[in-house]
Amino acid sequence: MLNLSVVLEDGARSVPEKECLVFGDLRLNYALTNAISNQVANLLVSRGIRPGDRVALACPNLPYFPFVYYGALKAGAVVVPLNVLLTPREIAYHLEDSGAKALFAFTGSPELPLGERAHEAFQQVDACETYVDLPASPGATESTIEGAETLWKAIEGQPTEFETVRTEADDTAVIIYTSGTTGRPKGAELSHNNLMMNAIGSAGMVQAHPDGRDVALVVLPLFHIFGQTVMLNAALYRQATLVLMPRFDGNEALSLMEKEGVTGFAGVPTMYWGLLNAVKDAEPGTYDLDRIAGNVVDAVSGGAALPGQLAEDFTKTFGVGIKEGYGLSETSPVVSFNNPRTGAKTGSIGRPVWGVEMKLIDADWNVQDEVGEIAVRGHCVMKGYHERPEVNAEIIKDGWFRTGDIARRDEDGFYFIVDRSKDMIIRGGFNVYPREIEEVLMTHEAVSMAAVIGIPHETHGEEIKAFVILQSGAEISAEELIAWSKERLAGYKYPREIEFRDELPMTSTGKILKRQLRD
Ligand code: AMP
Repeated sequence: MLNLSVVLEDGARSVPEKECLVFGDLRLNYALTNAISNQVANLLVSRGIRPGDRVALACPNLPYFPFVYYGALKAGAVVVPLNVLLTPREIAYHLEDSGAKALFAFTGSPELPLGERAHEAFQQVDACETYVDLPASPGATESTIEGAETLWKAIEGQPTEFETVRTEADDTAVIIYTSGTTGRPKGAELSHNNLMMNAIGSAGMVQAHPDGRDVALVVLPLFHIFGQTVMLNAALYRQATLVLMPRFDGNEALSLMEKEGVTGFAGVPTMYWGLLNAVKDAEPGTYDLDRIAGNVVDAVSGGAALPGQLAEDFTKTFGVGIKEGYGLSETSPVVSFNNPRTGAKTGSIGRPVWGVEMKLIDADWNVQDEVGEIAVRGHCVMKGYHERPEVNAEIIKDGWFRTGDIARRDEDGFYFIVDRSKDMIIRGGFNVYPREIEEVLMTHEAVSMAAVIGIPHETHGEEIKAFVILQSGAEISAEELIAWSKERLAGYKYPREIEFRDELPMTSTGKILKRQLRD
């Protein structure tokens, strides 16, 4: 018997009065957070949800997320977290593909009319019988979505006690749809054991402040596996206080860090980039940077490659090094970690975390010595994609899962990501990894961010093109930057075309949408 909701139950039992969730003026302790999740569990059972049924959740980082997430888990249901930016057609696809019986969705705001989109999708999917509105005003019993019922109305009178339904370690707890940068999203089925082990492992890598405070800034989206494991399950397991932030904004993040005394933070590289830009652009005296830096003892990056220059700039400003982890939705997510406590190397994603093995393979699963595609085995590997037996047979063999990421391993067993295999450019027969070129471009003082892609070329097959965001106020021509790159990169690698942009298309989890750039 294992149920992931134990991470919240334990907190409610041992530190009931401790602050669990902070959102704006709202501060909820562990006991109350757990009690509301019990009411959600009771509600689900009363609506006919049975163990193994799927419950979809479309909600940004608000207290609603843990209420519904753990409520559904306690009822033995499988949570299907949805990206809050999906269109009605996409939401309907996720509901159908996962076979969801219930949908909880945040009403949203005029800028993010999530509830309207979700409700429209709900009406298209007959098998999904229950819709619950998570209203923008806390406690509201009347919904602004026509025909919907609010959570507060639905749980009225539901008991605050609930005996967790018995689930086994291998039962699916969450179906998480992968970011969908390629093809149609597929649902990775993660078991209670997958997620519990990853939460415990992640919790062990994080440090609390020497004075004992453990205050986490929860800005990574909780619907994505990185946020869910590291900032929710692991943070609750540590019995930390979670400061919720529904949308990343560098200035707001700095204000919250100062106000709440944030001690730890995990983010994708673009968030670190946003924080540094907010510091750079701030009028002197806006933030007490010494106080912020004095509190922060833990900074973790993952989800995308952390550019070396960015890591260096962050350490200079905040006085703490960024620890890089590597993982995927399919691996719950943490696979490896560059942990200073057990030895770290600059630019590396570290070595596998305990209970996890990594190896390098070629297209036919043959083991490679130094460079190859990363394959992973261990407690973190998903059960498989939901109802995709053919794909599962291709990507999982003897317990090994192939990731699609190309890496190099050094003599000490440290892994260094070279790139995504699908992002590789083949120029005139030479393999070119965009990441290497991006790293070089970003060391130029005028360059703030760079993304490199291959574009079709008559004779070379593909040619190298860079999209560049300049530092505010910086000026440089494309020709100058090309000439500068040419001095630093082999002839077949330097960009032949540069396009300046004010921003780059990104997923909500900070990955640059290269497919969109290529289109
Ligand atoms: P997702 O399933 O959305 O979590 O995306 C997983 C992908 O993110 C991996 O396959 C990698 O391509 C990328 N990724 C995650 N962590 C890192 C990292 N530290 N460095 C480079 N790429 C990363």
